[in-house]
Amino acid sequence: MMPVTEAIQLDHEHLIHPLQHPNFHREPKIWVKGRGALIYDAEGREYIDGLAGLWNVNVGHGRKELAQAAYDQMSAIAYHSAYTGGTNYPAIELAKKLSELAYPQINNFYFTSGGAESSESSFKTARFYWKAVGKPDKVKIIARLRAYHGLTMAAMSATGMPNFWTMFEPRVPNFVHIESPYPYRFNNLDPSVSPGIAAANLLEKKILEEEPDTVAAFIAEPVQGAGGVIVPPEDYFPRIRAICNQYDVLFISDEVITGFGRTGRWFGLEHYGVQPDIMQFAKGITSGYVPLGGIGVSDKIAEVMNSVPPSQRWMHAYTYSGHPTCCAVANANLKIMEEEGLVERSAAQGKKLMQLLDELKAVEGVGNVRGLGLLAAVEIVADTETKAQFPADRQLSQRLMDALLAKGLYTRALFDAICISPPLVITDEQMERMVRIIRETIPEVLDAVS
Ligand code: PMP
Repeated sequence: MMPVTEAIQLDHEHLIHPLQHPNFHREPKIWVKGRGALIYDAEGREYIDGLAGLWNVNVGHGRKELAQAAYDQMSAIAYHSAYTGGTNYPAIELAKKLSELAYPQINNFYFTSGGAESSESSFKTARFYWKAVGKPDKVKIIARLRAYHGLTMAAMSATGMPNFWTMFEPRVPNFVHIESPYPYRFNNLDPSVSPGIAAANLLEKKILEEEPDTVAAFIAEPVQGAGGVIVPPEDYFPRIRAICNQYDVLFISDEVITGFGRTGRWFGLEHYGVQPDIMQFAKGITSGYVPLGGIGVSDKIAEVMNSVPPSQRWMHAYTYSGHPTCCAVANANLKIMEEEGLVERSAAQGKKLMQLLDELKAVEGVGNVRGLGLLAAVEIVADTETKAQFPADRQLSQRLMDALLAKGLYTRALFDAICISPPLVITDEQMERMVRIIRETIPEVLDAVS
């Protein structure tokens, strides 16, 4: 293998990275190996993978069964089109399996190559549905601030973080946002109801402002991931569901992070006892071993898709929809999850993780600790009384990430919250090590930024 310095030189000369900027890429890690919840760089250093790659390597690194599944399918037929008129066994098996695992009213699935394509598919399907049932003006999508739905044009326009928009505007029209139900910071202007209900009622207000006849769908992550792991109050989603029903607005659940056991259930909304009309997923469906995503639609939507005249057919397609190799890996991945009980494990390890993290509340600068299953965050503030944040120019998040990495924990800090989303196979010892590293790192970084 080429020496590390030479490889990095070539990387600087030729490779464009997501969120490209040379300031943050002077000494990138070259990741060469992973085993379970551990990863190794080209210099042989070991790290805990505190983010399971990018919230996706749910079954952990180094699973030979997944390599074998890809090998077997590639050796038979790696790819052929799944456009109407053709199909393949792995895609059929995967769709059938998902119909058993997903929400009861969702039994029909379309596959994509990742999260952003899934967002596009959801939005287009929502518009399609309303046109097909004779309400062609219902086109708007309501999303939330701090939401992350991907970065293709429509997905970026639904994403509720303005820093992703700045250099690419104008956004796609007809995407609007409401505040997220962020228990630590939500300012409840209606004390007659709980913060969860008040936050959900913002959806009703927005639908009325925009006019119900123009609103196609509301999209939400059950737990907002890239927005800093925001777990909503218990009563939020039931109220959201009721509002969507009342105003004929489809509810899209973005389960790209929360799907496949991350929160201790197969899918995130199960915690709240509600079902979406459309669900979208990616990441954990293959544990990131190969790219795959998709959407599932309710029986009501599926029936409409299958009953329109041919001239109105669902003209939506990707070359790699239903990719045989990717679906074969997904099937093998789900088999591992079931055989090893990883969803239950996520719930159990998640409880232990929260106990460990709760102890961090005593550490200076820790403003809030939150989580659901193995999806958690530790938010750092300048003042725990006022919840004031450090000025942006102190670059707290970047410093936290760098310092954690130097101590052997890979993760991301977002909005000054250290995000924790390890492989579901993480051991007790590894969780303890992870939390110890966080505990040691916070005071050091605070010294540097104060
Ligand atoms: N939705 C959610 C909730 C996500 O977290 C992400 C990615 N982090 C996406 C969509 C976009 O997925 P991708 O990067 O595969 O396009």
